[in-house]
Amino acid sequence: MTRHHPDSLSLMEYSAGNLSEPHALCIRLHLDECPHCRSRVDTLDSLGAVMMEQQPKVTVSESMFDSILSMIDNEPAGAANAAPAPRLSPLQKLLGDDINKLPWKRQMGDVSVLDITDRFPGQSEQVVLQKLAAGGKAPAHTHRGEETTIVLQGAFADQKGVFNQWDFVVLDDKDEHKPVAVGCEDCITLSVLSAPVKLTGTFTRMLNPFIR
Ligand SMILES: [Zn+2]
Repeated sequence: MTRHHPDSLSLMEYSAGNLSEPHALCIRLHLDECPHCRSRVDTLDSLGAVMMEQQPKVTVSESMFDSILSMIDNEPAGAANAAPAPRLSPLQKLLGDDINKLPWKRQMGDVSVLDITDRFPGQSEQVVLQKLAAGGKAPAHTHRGEETTIVLQGAFADQKGVFNQWDFVVLDDKDEHKPVAVGCEDCITLSVLSAPVKLTGTFTRMLNPFIR
């Protein structure tokens, strides 16, 4: 069960169709596994449709959406929690059947990466799959811009907590972290980077491919 969800603003932007393709994919993968966020997006979709019909130019603040959503969260779950979309289908489309068998590039120690930016032509963000071997550690790093990450397999932990499969996390330049893979599976994440990662540990130069 996922415990880390996209924020309301991201869900609003997703519902409005304003997100870039890689960002929308991260949200979509989370929604497929998270009835809670799915029901929030269903609500936003309906709200958006009503607003489009009535007042095309109305602007609504995030705090207003938050209060609407919190009212809805307190209502009993309805039809919005119906059957989830087929598991992994957007991923299978993008990456094939087995993400463990992709042409991973070993970076150093426990970290492998695969840059899949070219699968999203015309997008400005960098899109990277990262794999941390079971029980492995990644070097300490900060983020120069915003990095949106979803866990596709396994789990990792850092000082903010444990992130399990389908958990969603956004890191920015204030976050320095040193993730560790937990559990017995390799941890695989999909990250969308608005600016490159900046390593803060000893191996900065050797890990240069991280710093594009
Ligand atoms: Zn969620």
